[in-house]
Amino acid sequence: MPPTFLEKGNGNQYQALLDKYDTWLFDCDGVLWNGDGLVEGAKEALKLLRNQNKSIVFVTNNATKSRKNYKNKFDKLGIDATVDEIFGSAYAAAVYISSVMRLPKDKKVYVIGMSGIEEELNEEGISFIGGTDPADNTLEPFSLAEFTLDPSVAVVLCGLDTSVNYTKLSKAFQYLTRNEGCVFLATNEDSTYPESSGLLPGAGAVSAPLRFALGKDPLSTGKPSKTMLDCVRAKHDFDPTRTIMVGDRLNTDILFGQVGGISTLLVLTGITKLAEITGPNASDIVPEYVTESLGDLVVGRG
Ligand SMILES: [Mg+2]
Repeated sequence: MPPTFLEKGNGNQYQALLDKYDTWLFDCDGVLWNGDGLVEGAKEALKLLRNQNKSIVFVTNNATKSRKNYKNKFDKLGIDATVDEIFGSAYAAAVYISSVMRLPKDKKVYVIGMSGIEEELNEEGISFIGGTDPADNTLEPFSLAEFTLDPSVAVVLCGLDTSVNYTKLSKAFQYLTRNEGCVFLATNEDSTYPESSGLLPGAGAVSAPLRFALGKDPLSTGKPSKTMLDCVRAKHDFDPTRTIMVGDRLNTDILFGQVGGISTLLVLTGITKLAEITGPNASDIVPEYVTESLGDLVVGRG
């Protein structure tokens, strides 16, 4: 089925959409903001949803920040949100390790990633090594002869790490190949990541050398994985038939909604361009609804 294009300025059509869904899941980058610039009308659209008593959850693959840290971004841009409404892929990974894998207390995680992952692991009481440890943030050559394998490492968790280097990749590779049963997890597998001035390699590009070396893919806890939705649902129960995912990216946000059996609304203020959803080169991932911008929800309402 082709997507339904909502007509900007047709208040009745947008209100009909609002009436259909009680729970609204939002991606952030490219939907609410781009870098440090707010999407026009996004703040007002969220206010409108709150005034109509909708449940709002922010679902982001950004694993560089913890939820508490991410909340600062909302505050800075003047968007109302609580920490409980924010679900990041680092948090989903921590919940997966503590509640689904039930990692024994004497086991550890080796982290390729930034402080956001470390904060979420700490909050869940999970021990870890690597991450921001200065010993691993080095450009010195990695020496296998001088490396001591920690037998308690049972998980390697990989997220976006802007200081990724050969030492971290080598250690992760050692744990995954030498510690029996060591689990390969990724916070998300986004190929790219939107910075305010353009795209940069994403978390998927950081785990790619390991995937290549191992010939094996990690289990991802971010969108489009259902693990992420299960994590959201564990904290905020919702009726899938009355829930909609709003996002700017087909292969993460829209696929995430489809995998989870909820409705989807694509906005064109971020990654996806109109040519990717119409015409001969359109993607196989088809959103249910399309609107130019989240701000369209408030246009034409006087
Ligand atoms: Mg996005």
